[in-house]
Amino acid sequence: MNTQEAANEMSAFDIAQAQIEVVGKRLRLDPGLLERLKRPSRELTVNFPVRMDDDAIKVFTGFRVQYNQVLGPFKGGIRYHPDVSLEEVRALAAWMTWKCAVIGLPYGGAKGGVICNPKEMSPGELERLTRRFTSEISIIIGPHKDIPAPDVSTDAQVMAWIMDTYSMNQGYSVPGVVTGKPLVIGGSKGREEATARGVMYATREAAKNIGMDLSDATIAVQGFGNVGYNAARLFKEECSSKIIAVSDSRGGIHSSRGLDPKKVKLHKERTGSVLGFPDSNQVTNEVLLEMDCDVLIPAALAGSITVSNAPRLKTRIVAEGANGPTTPEADGILFKKGVTVIPDILCNAGGVTVSYFEWVQSLQHFFWSIEEVKKRLEDVMVKAFEKVWTTAQEEQVDMRIAAYIVAMKKVVEAYRVRGIYP
Ligand code: GLU
Repeated sequence: MNTQEAANEMSAFDIAQAQIEVVGKRLRLDPGLLERLKRPSRELTVNFPVRMDDDAIKVFTGFRVQYNQVLGPFKGGIRYHPDVSLEEVRALAAWMTWKCAVIGLPYGGAKGGVICNPKEMSPGELERLTRRFTSEISIIIGPHKDIPAPDVSTDAQVMAWIMDTYSMNQGYSVPGVVTGKPLVIGGSKGREEATARGVMYATREAAKNIGMDLSDATIAVQGFGNVGYNAARLFKEECSSKIIAVSDSRGGIHSSRGLDPKKVKLHKERTGSVLGFPDSNQVTNEVLLEMDCDVLIPAALAGSITVSNAPRLKTRIVAEGANGPTTPEADGILFKKGVTVIPDILCNAGGVTVSYFEWVQSLQHFFWSIEEVKKRLEDVMVKAFEKVWTTAQEEQVDMRIAAYIVAMKKVVEAYRVRGIYP
């Protein structure tokens, strides 16, 4: 097996463990503690039946992995996708642990997923699947135990069904059991665009530090879901950047004059894809990633920047909107090329940060203005960015290693003061 094949063989969880191992050794962690950090606390697999619209009973499989809770209750999204696996959810739960720690949120990390294809399901089927899955995992979730949120192909409506199902079983409303809810049942202003807004703040800080002007900067965005669309929109509206390419799972579109993300979204709603948008050229997702641009935003699934395309990337900044888009080998190549990679656990942490704001508001039944949410999010992102940037300079490492150093030190300190039970 050559190096490239070996890299392709690495699962998301292999990557998550390798990252912990490298930084753990660097921090000279106790080997036993390092072993603990490389494994999740608990994993729940559930198989459950759902009545489909044609009256057939279909069995689905879902997971909730609770990775670590030393800093606070478990926290992390739930994704619906045909390729969800326990291995992937485990990696995503590990990344949530480091994400919350690097940002300084009082949470541990968790993640959930259901193997399904939401694109082929009716709203009624999705509701029944969500309610039954919630009921299956309700033995381990709760507002002070584990708080789910949206992720790939889950949204505010799905969160409302989770909140309602959990609440009906408790006998009273429990808004704090989930974040990313609709406003009317205790959601937070600004949660929907929060991940993308965080990506924008982090990229703005990176641009300042490398002397790049974001106005007129060219931006290519892979993925046009919640994160990709809102990032494209915010960079255009608030930074006057030029969005030269966007894509979805079917392929991408390019325009050297710049795209209007709002119009592209309307086109996607009408036709099901960004493809065929007027006055644009069709490109593949592979071509989009290698496009000459100032900022590349991978905002789709894991593993899009690998040893095979990293040498050909022509961007100055990679802002990781997705979780796990860059493999460790690709990281090494980009670092040598001088590309600034803003790692996922920092770059896309705006979502969980506003989830935290929502949880605090839900627990207090006291709600903030959009200005307050934006201001607090900006403060949190700028502070975390500076800490990671400074650590990278001091330790002469890339920003991902620096982010892990900051996050793991915090978790280890929590273990030190809490001690090992019993
Ligand atoms: N799914 C998002 C993430 O990967 C948000 C998680 C949350 O808000 O708990 O960060």
